[in-house]
Amino acid sequence: MPRPLHATIHLDSMQRNLDRARSCAPTSKLWAVVKANAYGHGLERGMRGFAQADGLALIETENALRLRELGWIKPILLLEGVFDASDIPLLAEHNIDSTVHCLEQIKMLEYTQLYRPVDVHLKMNTGMNRLGFRPEEFRAAYQRLRAIPGIRNITLMTHFANADELEHPRLAIGEQVRRFRLGADGLEGERSLSNSGGVLHQAELLSGVDPELRNDWARPGIMLYGGTPGGRTAADYGLLPTMTLRSEIIGIQHIGAGDSVGYGSRFQADGPMTIGVVACGYADGYPRHAEHGTPVLVEGRRTRLIGRVSMDMMTVDLTPVANARVGSKVTLWGDGLPIDEVAQAAGTIGYELMCALAARVRVDEGRLGCD
Ligand SMILES: *Cc1c(COP(=O)(O)O)cnc(C)c1O
Repeated sequence: MPRPLHATIHLDSMQRNLDRARSCAPTSKLWAVVKANAYGHGLERGMRGFAQADGLALIETENALRLRELGWIKPILLLEGVFDASDIPLLAEHNIDSTVHCLEQIKMLEYTQLYRPVDVHLKMNTGMNRLGFRPEEFRAAYQRLRAIPGIRNITLMTHFANADELEHPRLAIGEQVRRFRLGADGLEGERSLSNSGGVLHQAELLSGVDPELRNDWARPGIMLYGGTPGGRTAADYGLLPTMTLRSEIIGIQHIGAGDSVGYGSRFQADGPMTIGVVACGYADGYPRHAEHGTPVLVEGRRTRLIGRVSMDMMTVDLTPVANARVGSKVTLWGDGLPIDEVAQAAGTIGYELMCALAARVRVDEGRLGCD
């Protein structure tokens, strides 16, 4: 028998979340973002779960090529563009779109003879201050790209820093939209603006920020995996979990007042209690920083993590779960336990938990509500 820990990927929830993104941004085409191994769900599963997307977006050229090998024929976008000029011929050969965010990438395109046309996404830095040309440099970058033979469509792109908090005091989304409009004014090409936060708040963006906002392409990631970019909960947004991490109780200890549990004896009982040992630890991707009290489901009942998470195991309070035994089913996150809630208790975000799922965890596929 294999170790009981396994992650179940809910492909039907991925489809439903994509439908949700469509209803939030009905006039936008959607890049489903499948970077980081489809946020830990597996690149190939991302391709199947988001088969209805208009395109798939990710980071590495080799994974873009893998998508082509797997049979994806719709557009593919490299979100950071190429890291080396030697990848440019591959863009042309396999019809892969590339982001262009800096002068070095423009130079690579100028020096490479393109035998087939390439579509690029020129990125504007509207305040995120990560990648992209500043609004006042944007037009010159655009014109330089336009002059390169072989460059076909140029999509104008930016990225929001605070799409989950529309009135952010340091950088409001309205300010980013204003800078984008200014820098891109009059330039021909489709517009690509929103990540999940922008998609979920598209209606507010249009009504409150800019009624003429064009968002030809949106780039949702986390919402498609049933997580939220911040702000409200996934359920509030009508999103379904797409990854459920489950294991079992593999040992039980009955302890009394003064007994402690685990490394560092971090937890000490103040009365009789029952401790369950779960086959899941930080080497599986469960966050070691999870605080005492992080929620866990045992036999569908909510209880809490106690003591320190170790490499292959963690300990939970079985006192509220009267029928618990060795072999009891445990849910670490997903179906019935929002990943964002677990992440918050560990001082992180759902994104990080999904992406950190370790290679040793078995992965299968199934519907929500079934084990
Ligand atoms: C990762 C990424 C996204 C998706 O962001 P989410 O917050 O997961 O929706 C969108 N655009 C770019 C450029 C990205 O790198």
